Amino acid sequence: MAENRYDIVIIGGGAAGLAASIFAARGAKGSCSVAIVEKQQRVGRKLLATGNGTCNLSNSGADLSRYHGNDRGFASGVLEGFPVEKTCEFFASIGVECTEREDGRIYPLCLQAGAVLDCMRLEARSLGVAELVNMQVTGIVCNDGFILDTTGGRLYAKRVLVCTGGAASPSLGGSAESYSLLTSLGHTRTPLFPSIVQVRTDTQYIKSVKGIRVDAVISFELDGRTLASEKGEVLFTDYGLSGPAVMQISRFVSDWERRRQGRMTAVLNLLPDMGQEQIMESLRRRIGMQGRTMGDMLTGLLQNRLGQTVLRSAGYRDFSRPAVSLDEDDLERIAKAITRWETEVTGTQGMGGAQTTAGGIATGEFDPNTMESRIVPGLYAAGELLDIDGDCGGFNLQWAWASAYAASRAIIDSLDR
Ligand SMILES: Cc1cc2nc3c(=O)[nH]c(=O)nc-3n(C[C@H](O)[C@H](O)[C@H](O)COP(=O)(O)OP(=O)(O)OC[C@H]3O[C@@H](n4cnc5c(N)ncnc54)[C@H](O)[C@@H]3O)c2cc1C
Repeated sequence: MAENRYDIVIIGGGAAGLAASIFAARGAKGSCSVAIVEKQQRVGRKLLATGNGTCNLSNSGADLSRYHGNDRGFASGVLEGFPVEKTCEFFASIGVECTEREDGRIYPLCLQAGAVLDCMRLEARSLGVAELVNMQVTGIVCNDGFILDTTGGRLYAKRVLVCTGGAASPSLGGSAESYSLLTSLGHTRTPLFPSIVQVRTDTQYIKSVKGIRVDAVISFELDGRTLASEKGEVLFTDYGLSGPAVMQISRFVSDWERRRQGRMTAVLNLLPDMGQEQIMESLRRRIGMQGRTMGDMLTGLLQNRLGQTVLRSAGYRDFSRPAVSLDEDDLERIAKAITRWETEVTGTQGMGGAQTTAGGIATGEFDPNTMESRIVPGLYAAGELLDIDGDCGGFNLQWAWASAYAASRAIIDSLDR
């Protein structure tokens, strides 16, 4: 076959594209040529950043309830066809042993995203997959097969699998342009918004606790109605809130941010493991302690800087005031400030800070069994590009592997026919 002609061209050398290239090349058993085309200097740049470099590659709780999209049911068969056990088997088969944490998150035993990428590339290379980097696909024409215009010249393919990812995290290759290859062929893109993203808030008090991490319950409330709550680590930053618990339910904030109807607040319970009465008892004990002032009244209960900020937000300014001067109403006010610390939400950190994109190419235009376009036969799609996004915790990579598997298996079947 001439150098620029392949049976299968996969556009995008990210998680889905790399996995698909291996599945396809294995399925073809040497009877098909497979190429990956990647616009960046190297494949898998986003994969390297996953899990802060440790690659949370799946989750044992990856059922449909952890996924979102205008029709998340689309993902059902795909996820069932490639369950988490298959993900672990696949990675073991390329040399990556996996380990599951107590919370269900699955990682490579070596905790190195770089090792995951290296093993995928080694396997792809050994199967003869061509890796064409620094090459952006700029257009697709169907003409008894496909002609791909790229920044490195034309390519010809019998089947094309588009795995160009989402708009999140542009510094790692994310771009809203990645959808245009499919929209130019008649596909529809649903509105995009960032998911798994940091949240911006009023910073009057938050800024002064910047850098502090707490185990808390964070809730987002719209006009006083709780939309979502999560218990876990919350990190205070100079723009607002970050940390796993915040990121996990941030989708509700970005969805609100698109329309900005109603008032969104972040409500923190800073002592979720203590009941209200327990907190009151601790406060009563504190005001009875010799020499305690407002400045150190919460020392030992909350981090000092955090305790003082909570008191300030509750209206207490004079930190030299003796704690003993507080009455029962004051203590109730302070307990409420600790368990319902409210801050106005102003938005999110946008696609730049997001780990994944909500929205994408409409799934109704693809066959959920094969991932083949219903508009352009022979064209397939997988990964974040489609209007499916998962929760934080390995669910998005699981979707990338599972959708890549479904598409590549169907492509090989179609070429066999
Ligand atoms: C910081 C960070 C941490 C994350 N951590 C986790 C985690 O621990 N667990 C988890 O499950 N998920 C995580 N995610 C999400 C996960 O990385 C993505 O959902 C996943 O990578 C999507 O895979 P994909 O192959 O669809 O897209 P991508 O991995 O984004 O790959 C798409 C590729 O296509 C290329 N491309 C785009 N357009 C073109 C074109 N026209 N021509 C050629 N190439 C093109 C891009 O350069 C890119 O390399 C994280 C994301 C980020 C940003």
